[in-house]
Amino acid sequence: MASTDLTSLVWLRDDLRLDDNPALSEAAHLGVPMTVVYVLDEESDGVRALGGASRWWLHHSLAALSADLEAKGSRLVLRRGKAADVISSLAAQTHAGHLFWNRRYGGPERDIDAGLKEWAAGNGIEAFSFQANLLFEPWTIRTGAGGPYKVYSPFWRACLAAGDIRDPFDVPQDLPEPASSGRGLPASDSLGSWKLLPTSPDWSGGLADTWVPGEKGALDRLTDFLDGPIEDYGTGRNIPGTEGTSRLSPYLRFGEVSPFRVWREIRRRHPRQVPADVGIFRSELGWREFNWHLLYHNPELATRSFRPDFEKFEWGSLSRQELAAWQQGQTGYPLVDAGMRQLWQTGWMHNRVRMAAASFLVKNLLTDWRVGEQWFWDTLVDADAANNPANWQWVAGSGADASPYYRIFNPVTQSKKFDAGGDYLRRFIPEIAGLEGKAIHEPWTAELESYPQPLVELPESRERALDAYQKLKDS
Ligand code: FAD
Repeated sequence: MASTDLTSLVWLRDDLRLDDNPALSEAAHLGVPMTVVYVLDEESDGVRALGGASRWWLHHSLAALSADLEAKGSRLVLRRGKAADVISSLAAQTHAGHLFWNRRYGGPERDIDAGLKEWAAGNGIEAFSFQANLLFEPWTIRTGAGGPYKVYSPFWRACLAAGDIRDPFDVPQDLPEPASSGRGLPASDSLGSWKLLPTSPDWSGGLADTWVPGEKGALDRLTDFLDGPIEDYGTGRNIPGTEGTSRLSPYLRFGEVSPFRVWREIRRRHPRQVPADVGIFRSELGWREFNWHLLYHNPELATRSFRPDFEKFEWGSLSRQELAAWQQGQTGYPLVDAGMRQLWQTGWMHNRVRMAAASFLVKNLLTDWRVGEQWFWDTLVDADAANNPANWQWVAGSGADASPYYRIFNPVTQSKKFDAGGDYLRRFIPEIAGLEGKAIHEPWTAELESYPQPLVELPESRERALDAYQKLKDS
């Protein structure tokens, strides 16, 4: 297949792993000198700039990947710029005859990839793309009428009926030597020069204490989860004070573990019947698939309400101070505040608390879901182009298969139910840690000086939200 002086170019994107990486494995299989490149693209039209926490994660993930590639005799070339320009010039520079990547599903990213495929065809370069990051590619799952799904349950049923999920690709034994350009190996930017890490101030200490970005961290976490918490996932996933969930989200986001590997490891442990708790976990992976299905069919998911009528919603006007109170965990409602502080300190928030904190912003503070989506985008290590907007729209009621608008989470009831003993609240809000019993969920009753009074009253703000929704329905 390969003429001897041609090389391969493997472009890694949100697939920062050696395991189950079909683009890398297939290129390795070809056996010709190979350039592996990652492009920091902050210039192409429509590509969303990474938030701060994601930039921190990316730095460490690329450092880990670089070391893993070097251990296999290869190396990672880092380049910054417009992806189409970088890839085409690097292909020319390294005499690439073959271009490999794993597919992406966001609108602007697909445009870039399609353009490059066309360019490759016109320049005698074979371009190969692979399915690696979704178990079900969005165009393969269709309703009976042939359209995209808008409701999760039938979508996931259709996925599960769609046939076997392939086995993951093994880590390539050896990687071919790096391709050279005639003048030696192609130059690489230094990772530090990208300045992905925060400096003044450096707010990343809590992230570093919490996470080990990179493929090893991902696989260790997967094993720990499958060896324990998954057995009680149905209940454990709702208790923010325990480690009842996998915390795989940032690893899936950056592709440090593949969903095919996760699926396979579950099947290996449960070859016959999948226990109910494991089935619930798999259905959460299904939500990830569903959200990417939505994004593929609605590339503007982060900027436009999925339900067009919601574009007429009359949001209130939140002052800077009120928004800052929400962002900094100073609303006076402990569950919301603990969640927002967990987010700031660790780059992650428990799902149940994400729902409560998002509902509080969108409904009790009557704020456009896009405001919250952007804050999460900037502060989550798992900020994901599909999952973040789809979940915000789910909470706001404007999304596909969304929670009805009138379902307004009560942060006090939620906290009493899911953090009854107050463990989670105490961990993130030292000011109220000394309160006993019910008081920890309702600290205003204790008249503390160090913790704020509620930013809004729950019944009144709830009524205001319901009135605004009624107005939308009447319009
Ligand atoms: P687990 O419970 O262990 O679930 C396993 C995996 O399934 C997750 O890693 C994730 O990939 C997927 N998953 C679980 N729940 C969901 C869900 N509701 N929607 C889509 N996929 C899901 N998830 C993100 O990955 N990125 C985001 O940017 C994001 N933003 C969110 C914003 C809001 C307002 C809300 C309510 C939820 C958001 N989620 C997001 C979904 C969910 O909160 C996280 O996926 C989950 O908390 C990650 O923790 P985990 O890996 O321990 O999840």
